[in-house]
Amino acid sequence: MENELHGSSSTERFIPVTSVQSGEGIEVTPDLYSYTTQIVNVCFIGGRGDEFVLVDAGMPKSAQSIISEIENRFGSNARPKAILLTHAHFDHVGALLELLRHWDVPVYAHKAELPYLQGEKDYERPDQTVEGGMVVKMSPLFPTESINISSRVSPLHDDGSIPELPEWEWIHTPGHTEGHVSFFRKRDRALIVGDAFITTKQENLFDVITQKLEISGPPRYLTTDWKAAKKSVEHLASLHPEVAITGHGKPVEGKWLAEHLAVLARDFDRIAIPDYGKYVDE
Ligand SMILES: [Zn+2]
Ligand SMILES: [Zn+2]
Repeated sequence: MENELHGSSSTERFIPVTSVQSGEGIEVTPDLYSYTTQIVNVCFIGGRGDEFVLVDAGMPKSAQSIISEIENRFGSNARPKAILLTHAHFDHVGALLELLRHWDVPVYAHKAELPYLQGEKDYERPDQTVEGGMVVKMSPLFPTESINISSRVSPLHDDGSIPELPEWEWIHTPGHTEGHVSFFRKRDRALIVGDAFITTKQENLFDVITQKLEISGPPRYLTTDWKAAKKSVEHLASLHPEVAITGHGKPVEGKWLAEHLAVLARDFDRIAIPDYGKYVDE
């Protein structure tokens, strides 16, 4: 089984960019915990010491730090019931192969994301010409090759349910990638966003390093369908989330979230869509 898990030297290579938040965790609610690896967040769903699910798998080379944080919170040798993926970009599956060598657990992703997880298709290269800052210039460093975890990954159920998380549903939020999903729990309106929107300006290196709080559309250098991305933000805003954990930036809640998400949905063209770039309509 082990040798059915494939990456490449590029998908498992350390990426030299980080933030002040790296290695820090935030308990957003008693059973929602956001943990930052360098510049991206993973999320643990489950109360301290309980069974839990891991959402996303962080940066390459971050498996040890994710495992330690999990063992601190859930006990030694704790392992998730499953790993859910919002999408399969390198910064969300970076430690996945190593985690799956450590734990024999199932992985779920949207069916449109599976080719990138079964070694069948690579993502488009980052758009280095898109409007933005220093991170856009660095983006050629970012791997876009697929990994192959065919033996562990299955598509999310078509009806929106998640067997390991009965209170949660997945919501298709394409645009950043075709098979991008977010996770929502009606009871407390908790939302795990992925990169459908984020709370720091991911193109700007200084903002990334300091994790400056700002509502933002999906990271520009890897977003390929802005029309779909806009619809996805409108959809998420219509859910009126009370708390949101995003793939990049700090978790947000209450009035800040309501006001800023409404503004982002309303002014998406101005705030999120770059003025120029490979995937921007003229
Ligand atoms: Zn992404
Ligand atoms: Zn990301």
